[in-house]
Amino acid sequence: MLIASPWSWLHDIPRIAERWLPLMFFLCMVAIVYLLWRTLSVMPRVRPTHVEPGSRESVSLADVAGVTEAKAELQEVIDFLKDPKRFEQLGAKVPKGILLYGPPGTGKTLLAKGVAGESGARFFSQSASAFVEMFVGLGAARMRKLFDEARKRAPSIIFIDELDAVGAARTGQGFTREQDQTLNQLLVELDGFSPSDQVVVMAASNRLQDLDPALLRPGRFDRQMLVGPPDLLGREAILHVHTRNKPLAADVDLAVFARQTSGLTGADLANIANEAAIFAGRRGAQYVSAADFDSAIERVVAGLQQKKVLTEKERRILAFHEAGHALMSHLMGEIAPVQKVTIVSRGTALGYTLNLPSEDRYLETKEELVDMLKIALAGRAAEQVVFGRVTNGAASDLEKATEIARAMVFEWGMSDVVSSRTLRADNYALSEETKRTRDIEQARLTDEAYAEAVRLLEKHRAPLDRLTVALLEKETINREEVLHLLSDVEPESRASETVGTPRVISLPSEA
Ligand code: ADP
Ligand code: MG
Ligand code: ZN
Repeated sequence: MLIASPWSWLHDIPRIAERWLPLMFFLCMVAIVYLLWRTLSVMPRVRPTHVEPGSRESVSLADVAGVTEAKAELQEVIDFLKDPKRFEQLGAKVPKGILLYGPPGTGKTLLAKGVAGESGARFFSQSASAFVEMFVGLGAARMRKLFDEARKRAPSIIFIDELDAVGAARTGQGFTREQDQTLNQLLVELDGFSPSDQVVVMAASNRLQDLDPALLRPGRFDRQMLVGPPDLLGREAILHVHTRNKPLAADVDLAVFARQTSGLTGADLANIANEAAIFAGRRGAQYVSAADFDSAIERVVAGLQQKKVLTEKERRILAFHEAGHALMSHLMGEIAPVQKVTIVSRGTALGYTLNLPSEDRYLETKEELVDMLKIALAGRAAEQVVFGRVTNGAASDLEKATEIARAMVFEWGMSDVVSSRTLRADNYALSEETKRTRDIEQARLTDEAYAEAVRLLEKHRAPLDRLTVALLEKETINREEVLHLLSDVEPESRASETVGTPRVISLPSEA
């Protein structure tokens, strides 16, 4: 009996293969085409987000709280997008490139969306990192397409998030040709605007200093707005926005929570409002109570260990410290008028006092420099006067003072004791002896300035307290408010006394 071997069908394979070869070839082609299509279909994922005016995702400026200054400035852009003729008639050029900068979560994206929502413009948004592609030229092409599309469907707003991804200053290293091309394309697009294009380009970045200066030139992102962390009133307003659709219990006072969240951003506050509602939901409650907020703040703050949320006591010390700087600036007269004082923490600074030189200065007298020393040391002096002890928070103040005093003695020859020889040039040739006397002299300058700062703050304790109270209440006070609070305080600078009448020497006129 002949039994077919179970493997006999193997002999058939060549025949079968021959018959089915065309089909297999066809199937392979289908697979390849399918894979290609899959790869390319990733593209729609990086297409710009696009919000139609009046759609559900559209945001109104009322949803953005606490950034009053930026909002006021952006009103101009909204007016332009709504009615460009009004401006064209007058020959006015409205800013086309606006850069919003500030820490993450402060509402930059939200602001840009709000401008689109208010003006009825289409909103095209794309993160700059999406332009950074593996293939050279692809990012640039994408950039071109984004602008073309926005122009075609004007009025529109183009929002480029994380601008640093393509716009970081070119350091020569770590910057690829691809990024370079994309940046160049962006510059070309920005330059290629005609005034009749109803398109406004907005961009967001964490830090202004990191950006390529070419981006900030006139005609490009020449309007820059700081979107910083909110102050006390701002935080309360943001909490209002994010609790609008949440039923609150009677014991909830948002002002109290605003006070407890110094240093947090809008995104953090939105998070807190949401967490509070979740806590309430878990309890099965009908309303979100104050206790829910307390738990939410605790949780969110714990999750943000790097962020500085000050205790009430630290806030008081900080307020006195900054009030000290501000009061001393005022006392020193014209040398460095106070522009703004704040105890809202930003970056590594817990608070800061912004001084603005009244005019561009190139020359300073020795007396003025001593006044600068007093201003720099006044924060620490205020801690000493009020609390009888100082904190470790004044390191950068001390650094600044040391730098000034050092330059005075070692470079500018501004010491009564040692000669006016500059020692910058022959630093190496410094004998130990010379170095010691100068070090002592430098220390004497700072020590005397500090002692004088303490004396002045003790003398003006009442206005110091007044400034501090205002700071604790509002967290940020501007120039007008400072002047108002200190209207009865006369400047005490020695610098102005010593300025003599300049002798004017008439120079022979140039022939
Ligand atoms: P950024 O772009 O500055 O990083 P976003 O605009 O993306 O910040 O903010 C993230 C979220 O935080 C917003 O969607 C909003 O819910 C909330 N938020 C941030 N800032 C504000 C603000 N000023 N007012 C209201 N909500 C804010
Ligand atoms: Mg954002
Ligand atoms: Zn200080």
